[in-house]
Amino acid sequence: MRRTGYVYDQRYLLHDPGAWHPERPDRLKAIQKNLQESGLSELLTPIQPYPAPLQWVERLHDPDYIRRFREACERGLSIFEVPDCGICPESYEIALLAAGGVMAAVDAVMNGEVDNAFCAVRPPGHHAERDRALGFCFINNIALGAVYLLENFGLDRVAIVDWDVHHGNGTQHLFEADPRVFYLSMHEDPEYCYPGTGFRREKGKGPGEGFTLNLPFAPRSGDEEYLAVLKKEGWPRLLEFAPQFVLISAGFDAHQSDPLAHMNLSRDAYRQMGRLLLELAQETAEGRLITVLEGGYNLEVLEECTEDQVRLLLDIPLDHF
Ligand SMILES: [Zn+2]
Repeated sequence: MRRTGYVYDQRYLLHDPGAWHPERPDRLKAIQKNLQESGLSELLTPIQPYPAPLQWVERLHDPDYIRRFREACERGLSIFEVPDCGICPESYEIALLAAGGVMAAVDAVMNGEVDNAFCAVRPPGHHAERDRALGFCFINNIALGAVYLLENFGLDRVAIVDWDVHHGNGTQHLFEADPRVFYLSMHEDPEYCYPGTGFRREKGKGPGEGFTLNLPFAPRSGDEEYLAVLKKEGWPRLLEFAPQFVLISAGFDAHQSDPLAHMNLSRDAYRQMGRLLLELAQETAEGRLITVLEGGYNLEVLEECTEDQVRLLLDIPLDHF
C-alpha cells in the first residue's frame, strides 16, 4: 500500500453558487460519504488545507482581479462578473482554501509525508484565467500547485494532464509560454462544447511552443477513442517530457451519465487513464502525483470514479475492501 494524502475540508461546502447551480456542495458530500462508507477514508492520510497566501495567488492572477473577487463576495453579490460564476459571501475565502489545499498536498508530497494525494476541493479551477473568472472557476487551483512546485521546490518540469470534458483554457493560457509545464488536455471538441478553446492547433507560444497538447474528441466518443489517442499521442510526448511531478485535473464529466457534456466514457476509462498516469509518475517522477478534482456533475459517477482513483493511488485492488 502507498501513503496517499487526502485534502478535504467541511468549509468547502460553504461555497454556494446558487440553488440552480450544478457545481453544488452535494458533489463533495457524496464523495466524502462514499469514502467513509467504503472504509477507504481510514486508509488515507488527511491533509489540512490552508488559505493560499496572496503572494502566491498573485503570481498567477492579476491582483486587481483578486480584489474585485473579494469585494464582490464582501458586498454579497450572487454573481461574479460572468453569469455561470455564482458566489456567496464565503466564496472568496473558500476559493483560497481550495487553492491552498493543492499547495498543502504539494507540501506533503515534496516533504515525503505521503507518496501521492487526492484533492477533493471546490470551487474548481481550470477555467480561471489570469484576470477572469469563468466556468464555475475563480482561482486556478492546479496551476497554483504547478507554480508552487516550480518556484518553491525548484522543479524544472511539471506535467498537467486535464481529462475534464471541458478544455482547461485557464491552465493552458497561464502556462502556454512556459516550457517548464507540459499541459495535455483531452476534451470535447471546442466546436461543440464549452469553453470553445482547445483546438489541436493551439500548441503553446514562444518558448512554450510544443509544450501544450490539445486532444479534442468528437461528441459521443467513448473509451476506445480516448485510450487509443492517449496511448498513441499523449503517452510518448509525456514520456519525452519526463515530468518530475504529475498533476491531474480530474473532471469526471466525460462520463456517459454526466448531464453537462456529450461524451460516452465509462467508469473503466477513468481507471485506465489514472493507471497510465500513475505509471508515468513512477517512470519519471518517483511516483509523485496529485489528482485535483475539477468538474463532474452526476453524484453517483463522482462517488465511483473518485473511489477508483483513491484505490489506485493507495494501490488497493479494485475488488478488495
Ligand atoms: Zn468540466
